[in-house]
Amino acid sequence: MDFLSSDQRSVAPDSELSLADAQRQVHAWIQEHGVRYFAPLTNLAQLVEEVGELARLLSRTYGEQSFKPGEDATRLPDEFADVLFVLLCLANQTGVDLTQALAANLAKKTQRDRDRHKQNPKLQQNQ
Ligand SMILES: [Mg+2]
Repeated sequence: MDFLSSDQRSVAPDSELSLADAQRQVHAWIQEHGVRYFAPLTNLAQLVEEVGELARLLSRTYGEQSFKPGEDATRLPDEFADVLFVLLCLANQTGVDLTQALAANLAKKTQRDRDRHKQNPKLQQNQ
């Protein structure tokens, strides 16, 4: 995987950011600001922590839990981004091309589940 140098990348949000671009931007950010990647198992723990933070917000926004006074319900996009950032770090440091991985995964799911969900009566019921 080729990564952009710090002077090649933009810090402006890209509305059509590809997975490959995201992997490159995260790698460049780590090189410039993060010194190096945390060890994969450290990042795994970080991923679990961030997923927990996302779960907390989702549970309070869409589930039956309520927010405590002072909790910020507007952080949902940032929590999604925290999860994505750590996942991108883990993909980079383990040599996974997420563009290829997602394409292969969707093909696998299509092959395996082409009709399964359509035939699931539980999905036909209104919630
Ligand atoms: Mg977070």
